[in-house]
Amino acid sequence: MSDAPLAGRVAVVTGGSRGIGAAIAALLAEAGAAVVVSGRDADRLERTAKDLEATGASIATVIADVASREDCERLVDTAKQRFGRLDVLVNNAGITRDGLVVRMKDDDWDRVMETNLRGAFLMTRAAAKVMMRQKSGRIINIASVAGAMGNAGQANYSAAKAGLIGLTKSTARELAHWSILVNAVAPGLIETDMSAAIPEAAREALLAQVPLGRIGTAREVAEVVRFLAGEGAAYITGQVLHVNGGLYI
Ligand code: NDP
Repeated sequence: MSDAPLAGRVAVVTGGSRGIGAAIAALLAEAGAAVVVSGRDADRLERTAKDLEATGASIATVIADVASREDCERLVDTAKQRFGRLDVLVNNAGITRDGLVVRMKDDDWDRVMETNLRGAFLMTRAAAKVMMRQKSGRIINIASVAGAMGNAGQANYSAAKAGLIGLTKSTARELAHWSILVNAVAPGLIETDMSAAIPEAAREALLAQVPLGRIGTAREVAEVVRFLAGEGAAYITGQVLHVNGGLYI
């Protein structure tokens, strides 16, 4: 069915309760996948799930912190128990704790690393075991332009996102044998709660460097994730797809 190319597939989207993750969950559901969305805020997660279910999608929610191994394993188990398999993992959950490196608190470094990088590792390890038994799967890591370019005030975040790109390339090589494709999508400046927290002057300075001259939308990132999850991307692995209006060329 061309209008439901992911029918019968099961996806997990971490941090699927708002922003880019919610847009990804919506497009994967629109393509016919059953989607399990996670986040820490139960109310926000339930509201998003209700909106998605209203479109006729099969949705499950799991309150889970990606920094917790137990939570990650419970999330993957829930996908298997509810829908029988796991085809697509989108490691989207992420946070910022910005500050100049000389003033950065240990906790700001640790929280960003354990959410943005360790979380993706924990989810990848748990999901890959299921996908290896199926001999197929797609893992899509949401990195950032900051992981490629660096960004003053984001040493922790940039290091985590650069690490995520390394994780993507290594796991792509390891898991290819089981037809599991691993890629990263690296957004630039995208309109969400996260970018709304950037001070106005810094945001304007960043926008001035975007050749397309505007901020991107969560949907524009989600479109690329949907492509990577589908049959059209069957020969792509270990790559970083940049979605940034030309900010990094
Ligand atoms: P938002 O802050 O809008 O949303 C973040 C999502 O992640 C929420 O659903 C949040 O839910 C969830 N989340 C945060 N921490 C955890 C955690 N420990 N465990 C589980 N879920 C968590 O961010 P965006 O949508 O903007 O960002 C999504 C991804 O895209 C991130 O990885 C981000 O780094 C990346 N990105 C964003 C850019 C942008 O300009 N917006 C640019 C480049 C990359 P809850 O708080 O309930 O846990």
